[in-house]
Amino acid sequence: MSRPPVRDQIALMDGYHSPQVDVRVRLNTNEAPEPPPAAFVDALAAGLSGIEWHRYPDRAAVALRSRIADVEGAETPGPIDAANVFAANGSNEVLQSICLAYGGAGRTVATFEPTYALHSHIARVCGSDVVSAAREADFTLDVDVARRLLLDRRPTITFLCSPNNPTGRLEPEETVRAVLEVVEEIGGLLVVDEAYGQFSPWSALSLLSEDRPVVVTRTFSKTWSAAALRLGYLIGPSWVVEDLEKVVLPYHLDSMTQLAGVLALDHLDDMQRRVAHLVEERGRLEAALSSLEVDMWPSAANFILFRPRGRDGAEVWQELVDRGVLVRNCASWPGLEGCLRVTLGTVEEDDEFLAALTEVLTGR
Ligand SMILES: *Cc1c(COP(=O)(O)O)cnc(C)c1O
Repeated sequence: MSRPPVRDQIALMDGYHSPQVDVRVRLNTNEAPEPPPAAFVDALAAGLSGIEWHRYPDRAAVALRSRIADVEGAETPGPIDAANVFAANGSNEVLQSICLAYGGAGRTVATFEPTYALHSHIARVCGSDVVSAAREADFTLDVDVARRLLLDRRPTITFLCSPNNPTGRLEPEETVRAVLEVVEEIGGLLVVDEAYGQFSPWSALSLLSEDRPVVVTRTFSKTWSAAALRLGYLIGPSWVVEDLEKVVLPYHLDSMTQLAGVLALDHLDDMQRRVAHLVEERGRLEAALSSLEVDMWPSAANFILFRPRGRDGAEVWQELVDRGVLVRNCASWPGLEGCLRVTLGTVEEDDEFLAALTEVLTGR
């Protein structure tokens, strides 16, 4: 049998893996520990019977995009509406649409490592060249380093992730503004991935304007307790939204997803309460970790990156798994040598994690 050769760029790739090990406490993928409110699930079940199953969904997803604009407009400097919102099946599909519209063959995409692996991965799958600069040892971004890379390589897309996955660091407003200035100078687009934006004290939503080349992406997967619902979105200038609508497949968002998104947004207070609780939990875990032999970086997200001192990270990871606790093993990722990332769970799950880690690191 003959097989068609996969594209050169794809042949070199490893794909994206997040191993799912079957253990009691799963704190490895930054999901919310609690399900969404029961009232949301009930409303969705009731709403499903109203769907016209023989018809294509609303291609423009107007109701959903309007509701997203209502909610996110609270944080933008000027009013926004459906024309400023692009929604897709998870924010990863939003990122892919951005790369299809503005990246691709003969174009360049910039990242600052370490950061979310899918930025460079999706850019490459779409045929773009990826250029990267390294963050400082403490994972902050040196604006001069960023400026040099962007002026030198002139990417059409520049990715920032704030708070940054997997480091947890919030990108300070001055940094985002400085990077945006260079992006404007080179005629590119700045994408600020805010998958964890609601956990952090500052959002790039405050920079949005119709005549600035900057967009913010967010998702229902983390803060909204709805990773099973594949729904993410972008807020930005209407001309970006128009360009993305040109590359996304027709009717990409099915009626169930659109309905679920609209109904989820009815529970904004509940989401904010759950986020506030996780932020409290973050403080508790950081305090507990600081009494152990680990290096740690300040997190503005729902996870914490840490590095056991004087211990092999992968070994510690395995010993946690042996105790029924799964965290993300970043120990072999470039720039993250020896690091592990723990997602905030329920109080009980976090206690189990702390007990297991204490035992692994101190023998007590
Ligand atoms: C989890 C995550 C996403 C998310 O994805 P969905 O496709 O919306 O589930 C995007 N960006 C970052 C940085 C993430 O950590």
